[in-house]
Amino acid sequence: MRNINEIIIHCTDTYEDMDVDIELIRKWHVEERGWSDVGYHYLIKRDGSVETGRDIDRPGAHAVGHNAHSIGVAVAGGKARGDESPTNFTQAQWDSLEDFVVSLVAQFPAANVIGHNDVSSKDCPTFDVKQWWGEL
Ligand SMILES: [Zn+2]
Repeated sequence: MRNINEIIIHCTDTYEDMDVDIELIRKWHVEERGWSDVGYHYLIKRDGSVETGRDIDRPGAHAVGHNAHSIGVAVAGGKARGDESPTNFTQAQWDSLEDFVVSLVAQFPAANVIGHNDVSSKDCPTFDVKQWWGEL
């Protein structure tokens, strides 16, 4: 197994009424970006269910400069129309994200929980992950 020192949270940058699943994102990443597989290791769907993407033994493709030693978890949503907030995740997703990240940290106690926006200038995942994690 790789040495994991970061768990990086993402959003899929899709609208709240888009029920994206790992197969759709795999299709985008493979067919449109030419990658070997979906870039994320896990996806939390709008209903809160967790889907497995790329095998965690393999580096992901989700955060430039951080892929080798991290696990990428994406939450479906994060894109707004008009004046809506992009932070449009369902309560089921918040609950599931919390449970799932707790279980990952139990497996990888040395890993810091951060957002994509902590390591890049992107807005992804549209909220302050360190603050969210710190308040749990
Ligand atoms: Zn991201």
